[in-house]
Order: sequence, then structure tokens, then C-alpha cells
Amino acid sequence: MALIRHFIAGEESPAEPTGAVRTGPVFNPATGERQHEVALADTAETQRAIAAARAAFPAWRATSLTKRADVLFRLRHLLTERKEELAAIVTSEHGKVLSDAAGEIGRGLENVEFASGLIDKLKGEYSEQVSTGVDVHSVKQPVGVVGCITPFNFPVMVPLWMVASAIACGNTVVLKPSEKDPSASVYLAKLFREAGLPDGVLNVVHGDKEAVDAILDSPDVSAVSFVGSTPIARSIYQRASANGKRVQALGGAKNHMVVLEDADIDAAADAAVSAAYGSAGERCMAVSVVVAVGDVADRLVPAIHSRLDALRIGPGTDAASEMGPLITREHRDKVASYVTGAAAEGATVVADGTQRDFEGDGFFVGVSLLDHVRPGMKAYDDEIFGPVLSVVRVDTFEDAIELINANPYGNGVALFTRDGGAARRFEFEVEVGMVGINVPIPVPVGAYSFGGWKNSLFGDSHIYGPESFHFYTRSKVVTTRWPDPVHSRIELAFPGNS
Ligand code: NAD
Repeated sequence: MALIRHFIAGEESPAEPTGAVRTGPVFNPATGERQHEVALADTAETQRAIAAARAAFPAWRATSLTKRADVLFRLRHLLTERKEELAAIVTSEHGKVLSDAAGEIGRGLENVEFASGLIDKLKGEYSEQVSTGVDVHSVKQPVGVVGCITPFNFPVMVPLWMVASAIACGNTVVLKPSEKDPSASVYLAKLFREAGLPDGVLNVVHGDKEAVDAILDSPDVSAVSFVGSTPIARSIYQRASANGKRVQALGGAKNHMVVLEDADIDAAADAAVSAAYGSAGERCMAVSVVVAVGDVADRLVPAIHSRLDALRIGPGTDAASEMGPLITREHRDKVASYVTGAAAEGATVVADGTQRDFEGDGFFVGVSLLDHVRPGMKAYDDEIFGPVLSVVRVDTFEDAIELINANPYGNGVALFTRDGGAARRFEFEVEVGMVGINVPIPVPVGAYSFGGWKNSLFGDSHIYGPESFHFYTRSKVVTTRWPDPVHSRIELAFPGNS
């Protein structure tokens, strides 16, 4: 069985596959087959990757902005050229359908494109004559070694959210991808190398808590970007910030889609089905709750239900499949338990995907629709992260906003309506970081930054886009005087602005 290895200072490690290292299984979720082993780094191996990044930092931060941009331009070209190959790797370890895998590469490309405009983004400021004969300017300098820790659900896009901007700013990186689908990160690191990135600037270590803790505790790591579930995001934020690092830790989500009585019901039903069941619901921006206002539910629930039988669920490699399996058997069973337990809690199970049979040992489950769900039920309170859509019925628009604002998560939210006034009020009052008006999955384009509020993000910087150039640099302000020697004198008073 092939061993997926670390990529440190431009080389795979351990040099030869060996039985001496701790490993974890990598499955093909469509077949249930254990297809690879992945090396799990211990503290020493992780420290070796950090040391490689540290050693590469002085030369990379001194590399001209034009040369850094060149690497990103070439990477963009290579990623476009190899899209299919990379999508196949994603599908084989994650399970999502090939078109969806290609879609995430496309969204990741936006981050490479944004970062390749680094010359513009790294501009400082200049103020002439702030005092007589005194000028001030500011520069943005890299922070040093950045630790990037990523989740399983976007094995290409989320690493690119972080790595493209971190490297553009002159930092070096240790990337710790999800151990469930680690191959895409190694592929990306090799592609960066082919694009001209010097060895050691981007290193990949695989692993679990031990590797992550080594990153969080290392005095040589200056900043940490994390994306994953809320409990881990919270603990990463606490540990990394206690160790004096700047940290952004993006967590889980419970995304609501409000449908008002004036909305186009067919368009809303199409959007709900796409956003709830795409990628088997394993998206942090998936819609998991439809909030039906007034009498909307009586029309919307049948409209959603009527679309479910036609969804084609199967291996991601099959061009006919629209939805693939879940990431692991355990996760599939956990997702199913929310549907099985829903009726006992008082919900109506409109469609039960757990009853659907699939051939073989893949981690498949059918799509489920729950109606009359309320806060306090597990299906509402937990992030299920699977193809289960809950409908909560509320009487008024105000009730919908109150429900959402009381939820501990605040990643994405959507409103479906034809009423511009309601949309404006929604945007003003809703306590969520990313809002879609008649757009169910409002992932910002690469020129904006991505981030939720409340338990969906710990730290103050959103990820990718303009805020990433803030997060991955520290500013230095330089005050300059070139005195005319004729006017030089001793002056002990606090400098004023004369
Ligand atoms: P996860 O939290 O289990 O794992 C994320 C990363 O943390 C992985 O690299 C993993 O190896 C590491 N990790 C796991 N347990 C750890 C521990 N105890 N200590 C240190 N590190 C640990 O998340 P996941 O299951 O891979 O991904 C799904 C979650 O990610 C969902 O909750 C989803 O909402 C969230 N997510 C959020 C966003 C966002 O932008 N907010 C984007 C994608 C995914």
C-alpha cells in the first residue's frame, strides 16, 4: 500500500516508505477500500519542517515582488493545465463528484489570481512634511513562518485560501492538511515547486494532534491559519494566541436560508436542494436549515421533496453522479443518527435517506428532509455536515432574524425574496459574516475576504482577499528627517509637530 509522505524542503520524507513511522488510513469513500497509508508526523518531524521554513525565510522575503508574482502566475497556469489530474485525486480521497472537485480548484484559482497582484497589495503609505523637514512612510513586511492547518472538505481550495497570500507576502509555510485526504496538498506543493517556488518555502507535514501541537507550540512559527470544526478552532485559537502568535481560526457553521412569502418558490426550492445536498452537505457554507416564513412551508416543503428522487447519488468518478459518498463510515453513521432520532424529538421526517440501499461498501447515504424542526432538537443544534436539510417554520420575518441571531454560529446566511426593503433590513440586522440575497451559498469572490462571525471564526481577520494581506504582514512605520547640518541642535523636549 502506497505511503503518502511529507514534503519538506522540496523532498518527500521519509525518503523511503518504511514501516517505522506512525501512519493513518486513507480511504476511497466510494468503495470503502483502504487505499493508502499516510505518514503521521511526530513532534521532531514537524519541527524539521518548521526549521526548513525558517531557513528558507530570509531569501524568500528578500525575493523581489516581481519574482514572487511570477511564481504565482506560473502556478495559475499549471493549476489550470492539471485541473483534471488534481480533481481526480480529490475525488478519489474525498469522494465528491469530479465536477465539484474541479469547481473547488476553480475557486482556489481565484485566490492565486488575487495574490499574484501582490505588488499593488503590498504598497505602503507616505506622508510628506508631517513636521518641518520630517516625512513618514509605512511598509508591510512578512511575519515569518506561517502554520496552515486545513480540513478534509476542501483539500485544494482551503490550502490555497491560505498559502497563496502567505507566500505572496514573503512568508514561508508549514501546511498540515487533513489526514483524511492528504494527497492534494503534496500535489499542490510539487506544483508550486514546478512554478519556481524555492525549496523550503512551502512544506507539507501530515499528521494529527501531535503535529498540530508542535506547530502551535513552536517559537519559530509566527502566525497560524486554521479552518475546521468549532471545538478544534476554539482550542487552536486559545493555544496559539497564548503562545504569542497571531491566529485566525475558522470554525463550523449552521447556515440558514430564509424564504419569504413573496419569493419564487421554484427558484427557492432549486437553491435549497443545490446548497443542502451538493458535496453531500459537507460544505461549511452548505444550507442546513430552511426558515420558512408564514405559509411558505406548505408550498416549499413539497417543492423541495419533489426534487429529491431525481438526485443521482453514486461514485464521484461517474459523470452521471451529482452527489458522492461521505468522508468516512463513522461520519456517515453519525449523520444517519440525526435522521433516525429526529421523529422522537418531534420533527417530521419527510424524506429518509438512511433507508436507501447502495451497492458495495462505499460510505453513501441518501438525502433527508426534516420538517417542523425547532431549536433544542439535535438536528437543529448540531452541525450535521451531511445531506440532511431541516425546515424550521416561523410566523414572521422578525422571528426569522431572531432565530438566526440567537444561533451560536454565524458563517453564511441567505434570504430569498423579491422585496428590496426586506433584503436591506436583513442585511442590516442579521449577525452573520456572509450574506446572500437570492444566492444560497454566498462564498465571496477572491477580491473580498471570507469569514463568519460568532463561533464560526476566532480571531479578527477573515481569510483570503484583502484581509489576508493584513494578516500575513506586519506594518512598520518609518519617520525620517534629513537635517540640514546648519540647523542641527540639541532639543530635550518631547518632539512636537512644528
Ligand atoms: P476538524 O476540526 O476535525 O479538522 C481540521 C484540522 O484540524 C485537520 O487538519 C485535523 O487533522 C486537525 N485536528 C483535528 N483534531 C485535532 C485536535 N484535537 N487537535 C489539533 N488538531 C486537530 O475538521 P474536519 O472534519 O476536517 O472539517 C470539517 C469542519 O470544518 C466542519 O465543521 C466545517 O464546517 C469546517 N469548515 C469550516 C470552514 C470555514 O470556512 N469556516 C471551511 C471548511 C470547513
